[in-house]
Amino acid sequence: MIYLCAISNISSGSCSEDCSFCTQSARYHADIETYRQKSIEEVVKEAKKARENRAIGFCLVTAGKGMTDSKLEYVSRTAMAVKKALPDLNIIACNGTATLEELKELKNCGVGSYNHNLESSENYYKQICSTHTWDERYQTCENVKVAGLNLCSGGIFGMGERIEDRLSMISSLKELQPASIAMNFFHPNEALPIKSNSLNIEDAFNLIKYMKKELKDSRIMVAGGRERMFGDRVTEIFKAGANSIVIGNYLTTSGEAPNKDIEMIESLGLEIAQTCDG
Ligand code: SF4
Repeated sequence: MIYLCAISNISSGSCSEDCSFCTQSARYHADIETYRQKSIEEVVKEAKKARENRAIGFCLVTAGKGMTDSKLEYVSRTAMAVKKALPDLNIIACNGTATLEELKELKNCGVGSYNHNLESSENYYKQICSTHTWDERYQTCENVKVAGLNLCSGGIFGMGERIEDRLSMISSLKELQPASIAMNFFHPNEALPIKSNSLNIEDAFNLIKYMKKELKDSRIMVAGGRERMFGDRVTEIFKAGANSIVIGNYLTTSGEAPNKDIEMIESLGLEIAQTCDG
């Protein structure tokens, strides 16, 4: 069974943090579209389109280190509007570091899951971000579980980290036992300090296999960078253990056309999930 998720970048760019993998950091002046808040009507329209494309999860993503009062208010209103229009869609919020109270508020507004990635190992994280700590990220992941939301967490591979860092992040994910693991593969952009993806394709397949072996009860979602990392061998991600993908566009990069992905999954004889069971 393959689970499809779609994402909407509802507040893009102009972030004051310095994550060296992220084109939304204002420090790197990457050529991306920036806007403060997408209209709720537009987000509902995107959610309907995602559902037509058989997504069962829809993620509301905002740039920035973490939650603020105004962001909470905006995301809550947006989540309620999407839930009203599409009650069977699982709404995922992804708004950075968040307190238990903020997460509970999102849950009350119809959010079912929260995505917050560890991004890398505790040790390597210091080399890719100086403006906030890995501990804050881990704490938010713990808050998500206490708030009663499904946790979606993972990271980005290919940022120059060592194998030990990958294993260390996977071991931290094992502690957290997320419902869903987001595996992203670094997508280079000339504006960023990290210049290239340091991972080769065989290592990427092996990482999916290892993740599946170590986190048997989690859904393994191949997210950003899929097309670039796997190219015409993309069908092999399912054999390696992935059972979820992001369809449509990513935050600041384009993805495969959803109908192509659906065709690809069905051509493998795999079933696309109709509902999200957590
Ligand atoms: S990853 Fe998040 S916190 Fe870091 S620069 Fe990008 S938007 Fe900002």
